[in-house]
Amino acid sequence: MESISIFDMLKIGVGPSSSHTLGPWRAAVRWIENLKKEGDFDKVELVWVHLYGSLALTGKGHASDIAVMMGLQGTDPVTFPIDEIQPTIDKITSENTLLLDFEKEISFTPSENIQFDRTFLEFHPNGITFTALFEDGSKKTESYYSIGGGFVVQEERKRAKKKIERFSSFPFPIQKATQLLEYCQKEQKSISEIVLQNELSLRTETEIKEKLKSIWNVMLDSMYSGCHTEGVLPGGLNVIRRAYGTHKKLIGETSYTHSYEWIKAIRGTKVKFRQILKWVSCFALAVNEVNASLGRVVTAPTNGSAGVIPAVLMYYLVIENHDGNYEDINKFLLTSGEIGSLFKKGATISAAMGGCQAEIGVSSAMAAGALTELMGGSPEQVLMAAEIAMEHHLGLTCDPIAGLVQIPCIERNAMGAIKAINACEMALDRDPLDAKIPLDKVIATMWETAKDMATKYKETSEGGLAVQVSLSDC
Ligand code: SF4
Repeated sequence: MESISIFDMLKIGVGPSSSHTLGPWRAAVRWIENLKKEGDFDKVELVWVHLYGSLALTGKGHASDIAVMMGLQGTDPVTFPIDEIQPTIDKITSENTLLLDFEKEISFTPSENIQFDRTFLEFHPNGITFTALFEDGSKKTESYYSIGGGFVVQEERKRAKKKIERFSSFPFPIQKATQLLEYCQKEQKSISEIVLQNELSLRTETEIKEKLKSIWNVMLDSMYSGCHTEGVLPGGLNVIRRAYGTHKKLIGETSYTHSYEWIKAIRGTKVKFRQILKWVSCFALAVNEVNASLGRVVTAPTNGSAGVIPAVLMYYLVIENHDGNYEDINKFLLTSGEIGSLFKKGATISAAMGGCQAEIGVSSAMAAGALTELMGGSPEQVLMAAEIAMEHHLGLTCDPIAGLVQIPCIERNAMGAIKAINACEMALDRDPLDAKIPLDKVIATMWETAKDMATKYKETSEGGLAVQVSLSDC
């Protein structure tokens, strides 16, 4: 049984895409680690990278080439300063050299050493191969697959197997929603309490709290920064950053000096239905504008859908419960992470496998369930809310214009967040015994729909809006 920590579902990373940016970045880091482990690193003379399938089709817009170079340089996507990414890339490009893992200078011309190959490897649509040429003229090639949400595997899943063994100590192994519910009923615990018990088998409570706090801080920073940054997003679509203008109208003359004061300031604003809609949309837009400009966000469960969970959690804190605190934030993140892992185990969180239902649909389900727990819903109602949110995202295709994570992606986060809130309210008003569709069934349906979906709607930019609207129209 596959067991996934919620810290694998909610990860701090860099935009614009978890599968096309964070994944390739991590793959490059992992390859360098492997070279070192096997004693090959010092012999490397040259390096080539091949990006296959969806990574080739939308990799330019998703900054896959930049991510690979950053990984080869040995930088960490969680901590590397965002404003130093472009200067690092400019240096590689202008000098045609790369400092492998900050240690070994090799000659590297991005246009020659990184190849975009539109063929699809059999194992997964997001394939990457790294080839090293050694001093003695021999070569070594390894393939990696970015399977969504920043997860990277090798075909033989050596590492995945190891991970499963590591997790064999989970006290509550969970594959399906029905099992999760059984544990809640048997132990008389909420979903977040069950998930916390599992996490405690991996790390201490203090470590868990610290990790959750840093996740929330990145979420808050991305909302704050997005709401206070104006201008046009990079990439050529001329997309104007909208969170800035919306936020300015909503916040009015209220003053504050940092993000936590900002929360208090928002709590003091007018909150009729229209303002609530605008605030929630504004939070989601802000995060995804930061993501689109290669900023730091929390992959939740992907970067393209990074705005939904922070927007719904912020809704809870500034609209629903002005006394909301870290305990609530922790519960929300634990529950949402577990719901995301159910989708990863039973279907996919990769748009290259399942279209946008796997990104925005899953994030909306995660947020809907987590909000329901905070609003006092039972575990049954939490799962019902997640089911409702996904049910109305089934079949959603992925068709980003020009391969950029901007249109329809940014706005779609706002829609996913609003649907999550509505799904929560609907679940809170229902008796779970009346539910016709259990969460496991909707997960299975999503997976069947993913398999039936035409390839052109799976992060290739070869269908839908991506072909109806071109860069020149923008
Ligand atoms: S359309 Fe959806 S799945 Fe595709 S890149 Fe945008 S947010 Fe991600």
